[in-house]
Amino acid sequence: MARTDSVIIVGGGVVGIACAHYLFRAGYRVTVIEKGRLAGACSHGNCGFVCPSHVLPLTEPGAVRAALKSLLKPNAPFRVRPRLSPALWHWMWQFARCCRREPMLRAGVHLKAMLDSSMREYRHLVDDENLHCEWQEEGLLYVLRTEKGVQDFGRNDDLLTKEFGIAARSIEGKDLSEFEPALRSDLAGAFFYEGDTHLRPDLLNRSWGARLREEGVRFVTGCELQQVRKEGQRVFVLQTAGGEMRADHYVFAMGAWSSKLGRELRCPIPVEPGKGYSVTMRRPSICPTHPMLFPEHKVGVTPFKGEYRLGSMMEFAGFDATIPEKRIRQLRTSAEVYLLEPHTSGTREEWFGWRPMTWDSLPIVGRVPRLGNAFLATGHNMLGLSLAPATGRLVAEILSGEAPHIDASPFSPSRFL
Ligand SMILES: Cc1cc2nc3c(=O)[nH]c(=O)nc-3n(C[C@H](O)[C@H](O)[C@H](O)COP(=O)(O)OP(=O)(O)OC[C@H]3O[C@@H](n4cnc5c(N)ncnc54)[C@H](O)[C@@H]3O)c2cc1C
Repeated sequence: MARTDSVIIVGGGVVGIACAHYLFRAGYRVTVIEKGRLAGACSHGNCGFVCPSHVLPLTEPGAVRAALKSLLKPNAPFRVRPRLSPALWHWMWQFARCCRREPMLRAGVHLKAMLDSSMREYRHLVDDENLHCEWQEEGLLYVLRTEKGVQDFGRNDDLLTKEFGIAARSIEGKDLSEFEPALRSDLAGAFFYEGDTHLRPDLLNRSWGARLREEGVRFVTGCELQQVRKEGQRVFVLQTAGGEMRADHYVFAMGAWSSKLGRELRCPIPVEPGKGYSVTMRRPSICPTHPMLFPEHKVGVTPFKGEYRLGSMMEFAGFDATIPEKRIRQLRTSAEVYLLEPHTSGTREEWFGWRPMTWDSLPIVGRVPRLGNAFLATGHNMLGLSLAPATGRLVAEILSGEAPHIDASPFSPSRFL
């Protein structure tokens, strides 16, 4: 492919921005179209963890039982709103089929390759390209309230060590306050993954977008893709809210909205929106130094330089755009179990995002099987921020016909045909 070719990327979330970066660096003329504002959807208010320790997918043995149990608890972080959607039930059925040890470990191997690659790419972006995003190498602390929680998480940790070589430092409850003074003194223990990092997502998107714009990438916001017109085995024009747009190649990075394109791209794209919430506030006076996860309540805590965020929940409720007060309250009260000063009165933002969830826990990255010049970069589940740079690099390599730097076949859209 000629490096002067043009590419249109549909979707200006962190994945679309990363694709724009690597395609532009590879010499292509790049336009990003975004129906809202740049990175205003799921890439905006997430927890900001860049976490190579997250290799184990959601599809673990026992996940279905745990999910069914949690449906009976009104305050459970996981929720499915029953609705007549054959796509959702098919998705759930396929998800349940993946919840076995073998597929879980296989998915973990592929995720690890991508997570490790992304970490290397982020280091390069931060150190050599000076991207401004409050990058902090403070690790990630998994804190458990009960002895049972410690034992359960310990099994996870053993698996991570044996199968993936990712070892945590285990910290006993009595030593926790010294390690992280923001924690209460009555907690059972913790596991610390020092290879993980965190950043401020909105800052990353803003500075990355601004840098690319300065260098020559074109961003068109408020421009919705309405129709994909094809000619034979190729996309030849996009009908958008701003009129017709043409390019030599097209990358669809539409996050949770991707499944809507399946029919037009002649390829199933089984992505369901998995809604999560966050609340960002003024930093407490005893602010955590480490980002943390509380697996028993499924809440994440991220200390940014100027603010502080609690995030959690996974709701399969379609594209419901409300932020129920009780969900935000729940975030705050869950944190009370762990932190000395769990929240502050200075709320800066209450937010939700629709994660692009696939039933096999793997992203969908690669050429669309029946269309030679169309590519997908979506389905990043709970890890889109962590996986974005590797995704962008893979898309640029596949589109250019170069050998991918990691095995791209597990992520291929053709696995759903
Ligand atoms: C509470 C919460 C916490 C999270 N924490 C983390 C974390 O700590 N670390 C991590 O790695 N991940 C985390 N995630 C997941 C991460 O946020 C997502 O995986 C990631 O943002 C997905 O990025 P994306 O670019 O694919 O999607 P999006 O950011 O949703 O971008 C897709 C874009 O496509 C646009 N679009 C859609 N349809 C069209 C159309 N027809 N025309 C034009 N534009 C269109 C949308 O407007 C949107 O801006 C979290 C998610 C949530 C909800």
